[in-house]
Amino acid sequence: MSLRSLPSIERLLQSEGGASLIDAFGRPLTVDALRNELAAARLLVRKGNPAPSTETLLAEARRNLGARLAPSISPVINATGVILHTNLGRAPLSPAACEAMLRVAGGYSTLEFDLSLGRRGDRSKHAEAKLLQLTGAEAALVVNNNAAAVLLALTGLARRKEVLIARSQLIEIGGGFRIPEVMQQSGARLVEVGTTNRTHLSDFETAIHERTGLIMRAHHSNFRITGFMTEPSLQSLVELGEQHQLSVFDDLGSGALLDTALFGLGHEPMVQESLQTRASLVAFSGDKLLGGPQAGILLGERRLVDRLRKHPLARAVRADKLCLAALEATLTHYLLDEAVQQIPVWRMIAAEAETLRRRASSWAAELGRGQVVPELSTVGGGSLPEETLPTWVLSLDPPHPGPFSERLRRANPPVIARIADNQVRFDPRTVLPEEEGRLLDAVRLALMGERDGHGPDTPRRKPKRAREDA
Ligand SMILES: *Cc1c(COP(=O)(O)O)cnc(C)c1O
Repeated sequence: MSLRSLPSIERLLQSEGGASLIDAFGRPLTVDALRNELAAARLLVRKGNPAPSTETLLAEARRNLGARLAPSISPVINATGVILHTNLGRAPLSPAACEAMLRVAGGYSTLEFDLSLGRRGDRSKHAEAKLLQLTGAEAALVVNNNAAAVLLALTGLARRKEVLIARSQLIEIGGGFRIPEVMQQSGARLVEVGTTNRTHLSDFETAIHERTGLIMRAHHSNFRITGFMTEPSLQSLVELGEQHQLSVFDDLGSGALLDTALFGLGHEPMVQESLQTRASLVAFSGDKLLGGPQAGILLGERRLVDRLRKHPLARAVRADKLCLAALEATLTHYLLDEAVQQIPVWRMIAAEAETLRRRASSWAAELGRGQVVPELSTVGGGSLPEETLPTWVLSLDPPHPGPFSERLRRANPPVIARIADNQVRFDPRTVLPEEEGRLLDAVRLALMGERDGHGPDTPRRKPKRAREDA
């Protein structure tokens, strides 16, 4: 075969198929894609293969352009039962929060404009006013995420000073956030107090001297120390701080505004508790248990928050209008006392096992496959480590769970399930009701692939109708 049997780029562009590509993707991208196809075809031909047809070249170019332009960040269905799944984008937003983002996204807004005075306003006033109403804090500042909030607090309050923190709280939460490294980045000097498992107030007392700038407490986040373990209470740290005129900074991590203990979970430290205990400054995430957009929220004494607000780093980590709009809408749910009904994260936490069992059973019935078995959902997102919520899942046992869940991940939208004991499990707790139809479609398709691609379907060991194990 000779290279001459390949069409020229001009001929491809002038063909009907080429014109339709230009129509769909524009000329520059089309030219680029066709050049790539021709280059690949030349290589093939040189190796002695037949030249691909014009149709094949055009079809391949279309496929590649489609793949190149498809959004890379796209929705998935989370059937893992991990409510705050960091890899899957943490908290889903409430409909009102989504609408609030849309309302300001496509046009201009009052982001930094005071309508009554007709001049520049303050972007911080929107969500911050609601935060103060909710928590009774003196002042609030919203930044890009909680990592930024902690970095800003340490930089703004303790640069070139010593920060005392219990050794057991030198945590890493994953994704590159490690308290000692953030501390170093801030220019504050870390002083580890106590031992890995036991730190007493007296350890803090002896560590205080003239270079001490701040006392810090950090939530353990994603791990738990049990056994012979003690840490001084926030209360005792605050009292010690007051004696020595030192501020106490509390990195709450998740920072719940509602009491998780009301839902059969352990008690996650609450924002209001820290403020009532008179921590000088608290920091927490917007997209963990708050159930809002990615944000870092700082609350506390006005003089401290104002110092941080004016710090140059604050400008570098400020929150954008979409975040502020969604956060404000999320906070409004708390003000209206409808958080448990309206905020997806809290709805999922509050979902009753019996409701979940019914949902999983209806999936099994619709599919004519699978068992409904008891399982445990987790909160995730660095809150409530090892705490679980009893749930019921649909459990399938395809002969090849790996390829089966790969097909689920290739569905549109992709479905992320959990594999345990060679079974693929779907937890209704984290599947939004409006996603159920698409979830079942994806499972049906993946089951068909099981028959086509990976050997014969194993004989059904179970009755066709869904069975429920107690
Ligand atoms: C999650 C967490 C952070 C980081 O918060 P992001 O919002 O992910 O930046 C910081 N500290 C603690 C204790 C956390 O749990």
